Amino acid sequence: MQEFKNQSYVDFSQEENRKRMEDALGEVASHLGEEYELIIGSERLRAPKQFKSFNPSQKGEVVAIHQKADKELARKAIEEALRTFESWRWVKPEERAEYLFQAATLMGKRKLELAAWEVYEVGKSWPEADADVAEAIDFLEFYGREMIRYAQPQPLVRIPTERSELVYIPLGVGIVIPPWNFPLAILVGMTSASIVTGNTVVLKPSSDSPTIGAKFMEILEDVGLPSGVVNFLPGSGAEVGDFLVSHPQTRFISFTGSKAVGLRINELAAKHTPGQIWIKRVVAEMGGKDVIVVEEDADLEEAAQGVIAATYGFQGQKCSACSRVVVSSKIYDRFLDMLVERAKGIKVGPAKDPENYMGPVINMGPVINERALSSISQYIEIGKKEGRLLFGGERVEGNGYFLQPTIIADVDSSSRIAQEEIFGPVLAVLKANDFAQALQIVNGTEYGLTGALYTQDRGKINRAKREFHVGNLYINRKCTGALVGVHPFGGFNMSGTDSKAGGRDYLLLYLQAKAISEKV
Ligand code: NAD
Repeated sequence: MQEFKNQSYVDFSQEENRKRMEDALGEVASHLGEEYELIIGSERLRAPKQFKSFNPSQKGEVVAIHQKADKELARKAIEEALRTFESWRWVKPEERAEYLFQAATLMGKRKLELAAWEVYEVGKSWPEADADVAEAIDFLEFYGREMIRYAQPQPLVRIPTERSELVYIPLGVGIVIPPWNFPLAILVGMTSASIVTGNTVVLKPSSDSPTIGAKFMEILEDVGLPSGVVNFLPGSGAEVGDFLVSHPQTRFISFTGSKAVGLRINELAAKHTPGQIWIKRVVAEMGGKDVIVVEEDADLEEAAQGVIAATYGFQGQKCSACSRVVVSSKIYDRFLDMLVERAKGIKVGPAKDPENYMGPVINMGPVINERALSSISQYIEIGKKEGRLLFGGERVEGNGYFLQPTIIADVDSSSRIAQEEIFGPVLAVLKANDFAQALQIVNGTEYGLTGALYTQDRGKINRAKREFHVGNLYINRKCTGALVGVHPFGGFNMSGTDSKAGGRDYLLLYLQAKAISEKV
């Protein structure tokens, strides 16, 4: 088998690729508004109620209609997953991995079509959508290889009187609950890790991006994955989510999303319910208050570029997005000017239009929905009181949820906009008198997901490696854009359960080890 290699990105500066993407967008447009069914085992079902997913660039445009699962359907999905577990758990790891490799190949063939769905359903720009599909393929290729590695004989200390082995076995039925912001990559990553290890799952996609989940289900069906291994159950997080998490037959929950929901799931999962014979495992990847430190000895051009890209890429709606920049007092005013100058060049508009991303730096589409627009706008109002509004702060005209890139300067580290996750295009700028203070600010929130340091000083770099407490630390580059296998991803403290997606210990979270010794 070939060694794992990350997918390359599509170069949209090439006329031919632009044309292909435009064709894909046109093709997907002709399927907007269609209805999708729930998938439980081999059955495709309708629920008593339906809901719609919308295009955030074009208010009111229905991307698709989906089933809103109720508790009865959720129960049925768990029962089906439980039944299928009895056969799937015995399928050879290499065979399970093969389904992932085939799904990766199919996804590669449908790359631009899947990216086009993301443009419509979550408002990703072309390159951001392409990168998400590429990451999903990477997860399939990476976890497939990882399963084969875990299936090999494991090293044990030998004693002359016994023959010993250690094997990794699956857990049981898992509930997979992904967010909408990496609608394919995270959904595929969590689902494929769950099933390649021999578990079966109930997949509840985000209600903002269910169609992307449905497209993955099409791919799983096309590669012949046995029915019941992944059961597709869109529905309300609050209604059906609690039921799935609390069910006594649920063995583990793989969640990515906000701190509030992650904590709720963790609490519910910890509560023993009658008939439950295990302690549920929770893998939770949660929010961030990610930060970039810019020292006076840094390459300021590079730093400004990095801060802008990390803050405004996908409108700041990445868990890894920069939302605080801590700037040395020696270059503070100069650096602010550089940020503002670049923010001015950012275009805001519908994700579908290529001119909204072909700019010199980075450009922005809409935020995901009305609720997000209003919550981010409220934070901007808070920020205006807590600091100095330096740039943006307003909605942008148009028929979508558009906001200006926003910069708020002179922010105190204890203020709300320096502490709470905003999840939108809002940057808080904080001043540090020295590097020690910068580190204090960096580590002064409840989160610990990503961070970056721009400096030419080796001493500061070494100190940051020890003291900058984040799961993903980057030196002299932006804090977004983790690659599977290269930057195993996941944060500390309230950013989650310290897992590392796309890393070599990730699959262990979905496995348990059995030690067997035979007397000789
Ligand atoms: P969210 O917490 O609102 O929703 C996440 C998922 O949980 C959705 O599928 C939702 O339907 C479901 N859900 C909601 N209530 C539930 C309940 N009571 N029980 C079970 N499921 C429930 O988050 P979001 O808006 O989809 O995503 C944005 C958040 O995700 C941000 O906080 C971001 O930082 C975080 N995120 C973290 C990572 C990471 O790797 N750490 C990656 C991406 C996003």
